[in-house]
Amino acid sequence: MMRIDIRKLNAQKKYTGSMEFEYSAPETLIDIPFVKFDSPVNVRFDYELYEDDSFEIRGTVSFRLVGQCSRCLKDATAEVEGEIDAYFQPFKNGEDYSYFGGVVDLTQAVNEAIMASMPFTISCGEDCNGIEFSSETDKE
Ligand SMILES: [Zn+2]
Repeated sequence: MMRIDIRKLNAQKKYTGSMEFEYSAPETLIDIPFVKFDSPVNVRFDYELYEDDSFEIRGTVSFRLVGQCSRCLKDATAEVEGEIDAYFQPFKNGEDYSYFGGVVDLTQAVNEAIMASMPFTISCGEDCNGIEFSSETDKE
């Protein structure tokens, strides 16, 4: 679980720092057919806890996709890195993320960062020719 105990950070006076999580992201975040996560998503960020208990994170989400090339259906992988920049308030204000009970749950913010960085296709390589139809090559 990607949870951060704000009360603990306050008690330990750890108002800034960095954190890292390995997150088993749901496959439903991927829109590309025949593609899935190859491993957990790495979530890495610097944080700042402000005096009013608002909490900000800035960092990256990185992951590896594996599946079939969107053009030729050969095996393909893709390394993806996206940004995460999220601001959490200890109350609801409609604009920022909110948290309750002194614990920030990063799941929604991380899911949105993953979706924002998700490519539309994956490719087996720059020299991909797409699907080759044998009937057309026979004519030459
Ligand atoms: Zn290909």
